[in-house]
Amino acid sequence: MAGAADARASTAAARVVMFPLPFQGNLSPMLQLAGALSARGLAVTVLHTAFNAPDPARHPGLAFVPVPVSLPESVVAGNDGNTKVFDLNAAMDASGSVVRDALASLLNKPGEPRLACLIVDAALPAVQKAAAEIGLPWLVLHTCSAACFRMYGSYGLLYGKGYLPKQESNLYLPVKELPPLQVRDLFDPSELPNQETVQKTMNLWNQTKMNSGTIINTFEALEGHELEMIRGELATNGIAVFAIGPLHKLSPTDGTMTSLLEEDCSCIEWLDTQAPCSVIYVSFGSLTQLSRDEFTEIAWGLANSGKPFLWVARRGLVRGVEKPELPEGFQRALLEGRCKVVEWAPQQKVLAHSAVAGFWTHNGWNSTLESICEGVPMVSRPIFGDQFANGRYVEVVWKIGFLLEGMLERGNIERVIRRLIEESEGVEARERAKDLKKKAITCLESNGSSKLVLDDLVHHLLSL
Ligand code: UDP
Repeated sequence: MAGAADARASTAAARVVMFPLPFQGNLSPMLQLAGALSARGLAVTVLHTAFNAPDPARHPGLAFVPVPVSLPESVVAGNDGNTKVFDLNAAMDASGSVVRDALASLLNKPGEPRLACLIVDAALPAVQKAAAEIGLPWLVLHTCSAACFRMYGSYGLLYGKGYLPKQESNLYLPVKELPPLQVRDLFDPSELPNQETVQKTMNLWNQTKMNSGTIINTFEALEGHELEMIRGELATNGIAVFAIGPLHKLSPTDGTMTSLLEEDCSCIEWLDTQAPCSVIYVSFGSLTQLSRDEFTEIAWGLANSGKPFLWVARRGLVRGVEKPELPEGFQRALLEGRCKVVEWAPQQKVLAHSAVAGFWTHNGWNSTLESICEGVPMVSRPIFGDQFANGRYVEVVWKIGFLLEGMLERGNIERVIRRLIEESEGVEARERAKDLKKKAITCLESNGSSKLVLDDLVHHLLSL
């Protein structure tokens, strides 16, 4: 396998080193970008932690180098996605020399293409700092939406104007500077438990703001206004912005190649037996957790909706339980063939299946983009981080789904599913989702916006 990567490297004009954040939703877009750059003739090396390491055998064109950073339990086995990111950066910063040495070992290697730059996940300021220390230019990949990029970049304003920290009294207040977000949609770092770690990461963030380019996994027709605002803001620092999404469609690297968990493909055979546009697909991504009660309410809400459904009940989905157990009596729904429950699905293939009518999602950015690209309308139930802002955009800006607000309770769930699948509002949301899918396809054509941006990005990398 190393042979293919070596053969490619010997003819490449330059090498790019990439450092993903080791969580599924961040790893996939970085590997997709790696695949797209490799297909354009660049040599690519992926540095990674032992935790959630990608499988090199699935990426024969890329080189992989493990970085021996020891990570705390809160990252490896912890529950809270936000805490994981902040603790991971603290660990990376504490082992700064390890990261720095790994980057430095790729500089000036005889017989190798020159190392042009690092592309690093935006949520890894500790790695950006290490690059700055050895004088290696770096670009930042944002695996969130452009709207969330703006939210993360506005903390000075959000605290300055009193939107944050959140208070009971201002949750429904519109954030005038970031429409259509409301205060309750914002990610509020002051709510996190370890404020010392949060502060340290924010400081790292500020130290590494100057970079050689900002890459965002979105596309012009989806977030044109947000991108225009970002370009305006970054132009003063001379930072180029590359809106290069949807990466999972732009890249030859598919979901199976980047999946950390084994996909249960029997769900595709099950979908083949279902009527066209009838099934609701339910998944809350790789990190979110629910209480036992919420899990039970979801099970009965889905069963009572009367619609066929495919549900990803991932290990660890229910807090404190290794493998979620379906409630008693629920087996009947399974036996009637009206539902299929799996631990992990080939999500991109599921969303592309003609039997799927809707997606109940937590609105992680990858899931949101994947749904948009297949023209599938959504029920949105954000749980943490950027998911609230994504859900707001789904309902208010693109109008391709509905937020499921309030208690996660079986009656509410049943109603929102019927609204999406049966009612005229759902039909309209599906029509708009199909239109948006057409726009996504257009941006990937040979003179489409994201294809042209990929050309620009390759030129830019070669110029560094
Ligand atoms: N995913 C998958 N199978 C599943 C559930 C999720 O392959 O059963 C993939 C999904 O396609 C997406 C990623 O896992 O690419 C989840 O990323 P997202 O940003 O949506 O959410 P996160 O896991 O980061 O919360």
